[in-house]
Parts: sequence; C-alpha cells; structure tokens
Amino acid sequence: MSASVIDFLATEARFGAHNYDPIGVVLSRGEGVWVWDTEGNRYLDCLSAYSAVNQGHCHPKILAAMVEQAHRLTLTSRAFHNDQLALFYQEIAALTGSHKVLPMNSGAEAVESAIKSVRKWGYEVKGVPDGHAEIIVCADNFHGRTLGIVGFSTDPESRTHFGPFAPGFKIIPFGDAAALEQAITPNTVAFLVEPIQGEAGVIIPPAGYFTEVRELCTANNVMLVLDEIQTGLGRTGKLLAEQHEGIEADVTLLGKALSGGFYPVSAVLSNNDVLGTLRPGQHGSTFGGNPLACAVARAAMRVLVEEGMIENAATQGARFLEGLKDIRANTIREVRGRGLMLAVELHPEAGRARRYCEALQGKGILAKDTHEHTIRIAPPLVITSEQVDWALEQFAAILTQDFS
Ligand SMILES: *Cc1c(COP(=O)(O)O)cnc(C)c1O
Repeated sequence: MSASVIDFLATEARFGAHNYDPIGVVLSRGEGVWVWDTEGNRYLDCLSAYSAVNQGHCHPKILAAMVEQAHRLTLTSRAFHNDQLALFYQEIAALTGSHKVLPMNSGAEAVESAIKSVRKWGYEVKGVPDGHAEIIVCADNFHGRTLGIVGFSTDPESRTHFGPFAPGFKIIPFGDAAALEQAITPNTVAFLVEPIQGEAGVIIPPAGYFTEVRELCTANNVMLVLDEIQTGLGRTGKLLAEQHEGIEADVTLLGKALSGGFYPVSAVLSNNDVLGTLRPGQHGSTFGGNPLACAVARAAMRVLVEEGMIENAATQGARFLEGLKDIRANTIREVRGRGLMLAVELHPEAGRARRYCEALQGKGILAKDTHEHTIRIAPPLVITSEQVDWALEQFAAILTQDFS
C-alpha cells in the first residue's frame, strides 16, 4: 500500500464518524462498469453504489445534462416554479404509469414521505380514527436510516440505542401472505414492502406471493407501497420489479438510480388519491424537485430506456446467474438473483463473506458482503457478455478457495 492510500484511510479514520467499514480501496475515477483506485488499478464494480449507478459510472449524457443545467439554474426552492419540474413529472409519470409524483432527495425521505401520505390518506379517505393508523412491514426489511424507519427495522445494529421509536407499525414475516391477512385490521392503511429484499441478502419471495398480497390489499382497502428504491429502474431486468409479478402498487418509491448516481433524487409515485391528500404547507423539502435534480433524473431515465439497459439487465443477469450456478465449490450454499440483482450465499463454515470480497479485490472485482455470509453482485446494467464472463472467471477462482 502506498503512502497516499494510508493517508486517505488514516485521515478518514481520524476525523470521520465510523459508521461504515469500507473495503480498503480508495477510488478516484469511474467509467461505465469500471472504477480506478488512486494507484491506477482498475476494478469491475459489482456493487454499483447499491444500485444507484445502474446506468454506469459518469454516463456522458447524464453528465452533459447535469453540467448544462448547472450553468443555467440549480435551485429555486418550491416557493417558485422552475422549468424542469413539469417535464420531470410528465416523463416519470409516462415511464411508470403513475398519476401523481412527489419529488424528494434521498431514498429514506421518499419512504418517510410515503408513510406520512398513506397515514393522511387513511384518516381523510379511508376513515381511520385519528392517531390509530397502522402500517404493516416485513421482518428483515431495509427502508433507510431515519428514526421513523429504523423504528420498524428488525436489525439490532440499526435500532440499538436509537429509541424511543414511533408506534404504528406491525412486523410480519416476508413472503408469507397468510401472515399479512392475519395482521390486517380496519385501521391498516398500508403494507410497505420491498419486491426483493436487497440488504437482507437478495431474498426473493415465493412465486405468487405478490399476487396474493395485491388481492389482500385491494380487498381490505390497504395501500400497497412497494419500495423499489433498489429493485427499480431496470435492476431486476424489468423497469419495476412489480412487473415480474404482474401487479401494480398503489404507491411506488424510487431513488438511487433515478439520478444515475450523480445526485440524490428520489420520488414517491402514486396511482390513486394517496398523494392527492397533501395540501400546501403540509409537506416539503428545500431541495426536492430542484431543477438540477430534475434535469439529471430526466437524462438518467432517458438513457436507461434509449440504450436498452433494462433488456440488457435481463440478458446479462441470466448469463451471470447461470455462470454462478455452474461454479462447483464447497463454499457455496446458494446462488440466487433476478436480472442483475444477484447474490452468492456461502456456507457458514466457509468463513465470512468479507474475506472473499477482499480476495475478489485482488482479482479486480469490487463486491460487498452483506449479513456475514452473503456476497451481493450488482454491476451496472451496461455490462457486456465478455465482462460477465471475465467476472465469472474471477468469482470461480475465489469461491473455490476456502477462507474459513
Ligand atoms: C438504499 C435503500 C433505501 C434508502 O435510500 P437512501 O438514499 O440511502 O436513504 C430505502 N429502501 C431500499 C430498498 C434501499 O435499498
């Protein structure tokens, strides 16, 4: 390790809050699926900033839109109109088939905004007695890091010593429609769920689960809120993961790749009157819907479609999954995925996934462990067959070693 790398790590360690434990690589440049460290070593990015750079690093068209807009106008606040917001609304509504849009910045803000909106809908439209709205969520969920959200997390690391937490949430197992049916009461306003649980280790629910969920929500006048912040925008080989299930959410949450990684942009999309209950002054954000964010998001959505990234995610995802399944290694317990949202779960005896990720770094692959024994694999959606095949060679070389 060169002196400069030690300086970066030591300086971060000295001044930064230690709320992350990064792999020991200092990145300074990115292009497409590739990133380079400060010493000029090249890596295939198999995390894509947790699926925020689906379009590939520094996509030239998103960059151009950002620079062009930054020269003209960056922030007006919502006290005034700007000439990008209406176009953003129009384009995201057309792309997703949504009726109403609420622009925010981070994913967690979109989740918080959805929680506020479905509660308000519950009181003003459904007729739930004030203060009694219930929202059902799933065990092992990940919806972000704000107080409201970690209050209904089941991960002790996310919750411990951050309480007291807000009431009004019920936790049920993921993938269990009968549990949802039992948990619904007349005061239930929403079921908030990820189509595939990403942070939990790419957990795919049983076939037919979401069909039943959709029916239960419709039958009980419960808003189905799908958190597609990670699964959305092509990651699973469809624009939205709900399309694999043939269903439509009442409320859809997008973030991460909505800006192609250039800028924090998130949105709450609703198919009915949920967002319609918000009146001036009742919710907002200084940066939400700013012209720079809107211009960046418009370009990010456009290239996703125009450059065939969603179809490519389906094709290359299938190739990657098959290739991973073909690796014969005692370390592997299960390989799973949909589109380019993939995971290799290791046998507990094989040692921590972190060690494998560190070994992969030596082979020119950056991947991130999750939950001790799982390596998640989520490259940008612009990956080619040759790059998938090269990545598979590196994974095979590392997974056939034993780091226990
Ligand atoms: C990343 C993520 C969030 C939170 O997004 P932030 O921008 O980090 O606040 C919420 N839900 C899911 C499913 C995510 O993957």
